[in-house]
Amino acid sequence: MTDAERGAALEAIAAEVRVCTRCRLHESRAKAVPGEGNPETEVVVVGEGPGRDENQAGRPFVGASGKLLTELIESLGWARDDVFITNVVKCWPPGNRDPSPDEIAACAPYLRRQLEVLDPAVVVTAGKHSLGVFMPGERISRVHGTARPADSATGARDALVFAMYHPAFALYDGSNRSTLVADIQGLPSTLQAARDARAAHQVAGPGSEPGSGAPGAGLATGEPTVAEPLSIQPPEAGLFDVAEPAELVAIAVEAGPTADLVAVAAATDGGAEADPVAGQLTLF
Ligand code: URA
Ligand code: SF4
Repeated sequence: MTDAERGAALEAIAAEVRVCTRCRLHESRAKAVPGEGNPETEVVVVGEGPGRDENQAGRPFVGASGKLLTELIESLGWARDDVFITNVVKCWPPGNRDPSPDEIAACAPYLRRQLEVLDPAVVVTAGKHSLGVFMPGERISRVHGTARPADSATGARDALVFAMYHPAFALYDGSNRSTLVADIQGLPSTLQAARDARAAHQVAGPGSEPGSGAPGAGLATGEPTVAEPLSIQPPEAGLFDVAEPAELVAIAVEAGPTADLVAVAAATDGGAEADPVAGQLTLF
């Protein structure tokens, strides 16, 4: 698929989403939120669903959670525009409630089709509802900061899934911010591992396991830096510099959460849906 075709295919999906009536969430939405970002990206971030701000703007992650997500991405020396950001459900669940299973199921084909078009190397799940799509049955307190291969039924045909807490986890309790900051440091090495796997699949040739995109496009995978501008090269050469070998992957993929993170998670995971941060609590 050419760049232009990919962009057009994503816009066609977005146009369907904007007028979709497949589930009850269409009744209360102001604007549907299909997602946005670089059609050529290697990294897709999948949140839960639009919040109030996103419902008004028609764009994903533009409120407080979005500000933190953007900062986390920038802490890697990447830019928000370099990735693609979308959600499990594309319309605001009123009151920021959790999306229901039937709403998630109704909306699932859009996310699957977006991933088929984007063919990302890494899918970053933000929060437990997104985790539920890509690592069904897993607990976020156990797998946050780790990666595993995506099930191709998700639409991501040759990708690693990288699990993170939802940014609202840190907004609810500032002390959780360090968990998110620490976890996202594992993303560049996960991307490198995904590139290596995709390159290997390609070398194995047609008929081998899935794998399509040319390796090497993309985001810096060396040591994360805070302020370094992302050097964007032409897509053929790759959007992101690759500075370091992929051995960190073992850490990203295998290291479990540290004991204190488990403690934090135990206090919040599967937690109550009790107060003004409401709805948010169940995201983690
Ligand atoms: N939270 C999400 O999960 N997605 C958004 O787009 C905004 C907030
Ligand atoms: Fe359609 Fe998804 Fe919006 Fe439901 S949430 S109306 S399925 S776009």
